[in-house]
Amino acid sequence: MSDDRIKFEECPVCSGCHEFVLDVHRKSIQVVISPDRETDTAFTKADVLFTCPDKDQTFEAEVTLLHRPYEYIKSVEVKSEDD
Ligand SMILES: [Zn+2]
Repeated sequence: MSDDRIKFEECPVCSGCHEFVLDVHRKSIQVVISPDRETDTAFTKADVLFTCPDKDQTFEAEVTLLHRPYEYIKSVEVKSEDD
């Protein structure tokens, strides 16, 4: 488990610049991968709901999450900046 940061240069709600911290839950899957491929990077796209901190309105955005080929993305949550 690790934190991913995503930055919106232009928020769809207020056009401002915000940075969000994503709590990405990755799960390992049982697959046979040769050792030289274990550090390969796979991508999963997910639709995530964000809340504009200025206008307090939610918006959905597609994010690209990086993970290992022997993992999948179980869930994604947006952490508040105050955590
Ligand atoms: Zn905003």
